[in-house]
Amino acid sequence: MFQPFLQTPVEYLKGVGPSRAETLRRELNIQTFGDLIYFFPLRYIDRSKILNISEIYSEAAYIQVKGKLLGLQEIGTKRAARLVGRLQDETGEIELVWFQGLRWIREKIRPGVEYLVFGKPSLFNNKLNIVHPEIEPLAEAKIFTDEPWQPFYSSTEKLKAKGLNSKGMATIMRNLLNQAINNIPENLPERLITSLKLPSRDKALMHIHFPADDISLVQATKRLKFDELFFNQLPLLQNRQHRKTSINGLVYTNIGKYFKAFYHEYLPFELTGAQKKVLREIRTDTRSGKQMNRLLQGDVGCGKTVVALMTALMAIDNGYQACLMAPTEILASQHYETLLRMLNGMDISIELLTGSTKNANRQEIHSRLLEGTLNLLIGTHALIEESVKFKNLGLAIIDEQHRFGVEQRAKLWQKSTILPHVLVMTATPIPRTLAMTLYGDLDHSVIDELPPGRRPVKTIHYYDTHRLRVFGFIKEQISQGRQVYVVYPLINESETLDLKDLMDGYESIVREFPLPHYAVSIVHGQMRPADKDYEMQRFVKGETQIMVATTVIEVGVDVPNASVMVIESAERFGLSQLHQLRGRVGRGAEQSYCILMSKVELSGDARKRLATMVQTNDGFEIANVDLQLRGPGEIHGTKQSGEVDFRLVDLSKDGKILEAARKVIEEMLANDPELRSEANQPIVSYLQQNAQQHLRWGRIS
Ligand code: ADP
Ligand code: MG
Repeated sequence: MFQPFLQTPVEYLKGVGPSRAETLRRELNIQTFGDLIYFFPLRYIDRSKILNISEIYSEAAYIQVKGKLLGLQEIGTKRAARLVGRLQDETGEIELVWFQGLRWIREKIRPGVEYLVFGKPSLFNNKLNIVHPEIEPLAEAKIFTDEPWQPFYSSTEKLKAKGLNSKGMATIMRNLLNQAINNIPENLPERLITSLKLPSRDKALMHIHFPADDISLVQATKRLKFDELFFNQLPLLQNRQHRKTSINGLVYTNIGKYFKAFYHEYLPFELTGAQKKVLREIRTDTRSGKQMNRLLQGDVGCGKTVVALMTALMAIDNGYQACLMAPTEILASQHYETLLRMLNGMDISIELLTGSTKNANRQEIHSRLLEGTLNLLIGTHALIEESVKFKNLGLAIIDEQHRFGVEQRAKLWQKSTILPHVLVMTATPIPRTLAMTLYGDLDHSVIDELPPGRRPVKTIHYYDTHRLRVFGFIKEQISQGRQVYVVYPLINESETLDLKDLMDGYESIVREFPLPHYAVSIVHGQMRPADKDYEMQRFVKGETQIMVATTVIEVGVDVPNASVMVIESAERFGLSQLHQLRGRVGRGAEQSYCILMSKVELSGDARKRLATMVQTNDGFEIANVDLQLRGPGEIHGTKQSGEVDFRLVDLSKDGKILEAARKVIEEMLANDPELRSEANQPIVSYLQQNAQQHLRWGRIS
């Protein structure tokens, strides 16, 4: 049977064989030529640069030195033996150390010979040495080659034991690439490669391993990043295309009386330009005859709720029911209260359905939903239970998307025969690039404007040692009639410990802010919902000045008079959480403050997070730093899904390439939705081969 070159088992490669092949499979999941060729260098080393031994001062980087080997000595007992050599040049000496493969090293290198040595210095007994260096006789070494950039591959102990250190990997890679010329099929249409000025696939693969110069490396990297993003986005955009061309959606024919009445008589403020723009986009979607699937992104406090409400009114005006699903009970009931208040006076029926809805009430909601006398249902996950059935659901709104999985979304819109329109809202600022890779099948709206009159929150970082100063500041604010949040982290390791932190903090605050001058509320996850609600309401009504809480208040809570957010152990929070918390203040006309308390000793990442918070209020900027610090997999818990697992692409930097890929895919699908044209066949055959690849992995794991 004909076997495509890239699918040849790696053991048939010159220099590999069964034993190394087995190790490559176990250690790096490399099974075929294709797997190996896509194992890219970790970095590149300028091998034309040779240091003097006296110049080695840090353990930081890989270096190259040359010199004469003075002695070679085995030290220690059999099991813990090591081999130590001394390398000398005109400027000094450095030790070379091996712990493994001693016999092989002994055979290979001889004292008195000059060697070129490459490795990473480390500190031992306060002296720099190089452990397991790469070493070759100077006479045989290619130093000033025409390929100054040499690949450095990551390796493992087991691979190294089989001679596959970085250099060994480079050798087999070179063998592979020598054979690969003319054997790597192009996977993009010719016309596209030309118009984007990208190198061909085989050239790119060649140069990513062995770049001739800077430019060829840059070009190769760009091409391979483009490939990654192209094949990541293609199925998403095909999916969207399919939805738009083949799946019918409900048509909201008119803007009716509810929408108009609300807009002209009830809306307490002028909509921002961004809110209007998004409503127009939604209007276009819901009239198009196709199902809307729209992601609405907007920073905390930008006013997504009213957009959701007005979209619900469009649905209700056209005879449909709408629902709004929120991730927590607190948030759901806050939405419920807000919408009740905003719709007060209009004859629209709204209900709240959560896990703690009483049975009788629940029964009634169920039957009114079926009858169609209930227009708008707000709730938590309780909404997607089997027993919840609508007469004619026309719109599903999901708030705080990141807490709902794709499957849960799907469940919601399976609740009617014609798919309802779906509006997904998120306040977690996801960088645009990440949003597109995660939700690339959704259309995307952004509210990039805050309502007028907001003053940016001032953020200050204090060490715990300055607590008294912070207390003083809180008192001053309270004396001006403001209210204050003090938030403790939930660490999840041990709920009792978390609770103890919180209670200790609460007690010290009550001591500092005693009755009758002050009143303090407390809310945490282990309280009964009714108690939580009671405490929350006291704060909302202004009966208490300080709210001590865990992150349960993270989302949604809206108390415009609260002007100070104190975050305890701020170093323990992630950036997006800090940003969410800060969004709880700065909602009124007063200047607001966010105070980040931390210990003095901080990790580099923690310091960067706190500095970022102090420096900017821009959620998207913060999200980008978050992406750089944590990588896309950690954000949104998508790690396991592998959706954003790229080899080369860095979503915090490669937005432009992503946009370019999406643009060409969109154009391509517009002309050739099924990819039938001759020109697009490279894509099709690549997809087919990749599908087989996945099958193969599927069988093995
Ligand atoms: P989020 O987008 O975080 O859900 P909300 O919808 O809760 O934000 O809105 C935050 C606050 O801003 C609310 O108090 C809301 O009434 C108010 N708001 C929303 N839109 C406007 C606007 N256009 N002008 C003035 N205030 C607005
Ligand atoms: Mg909101």
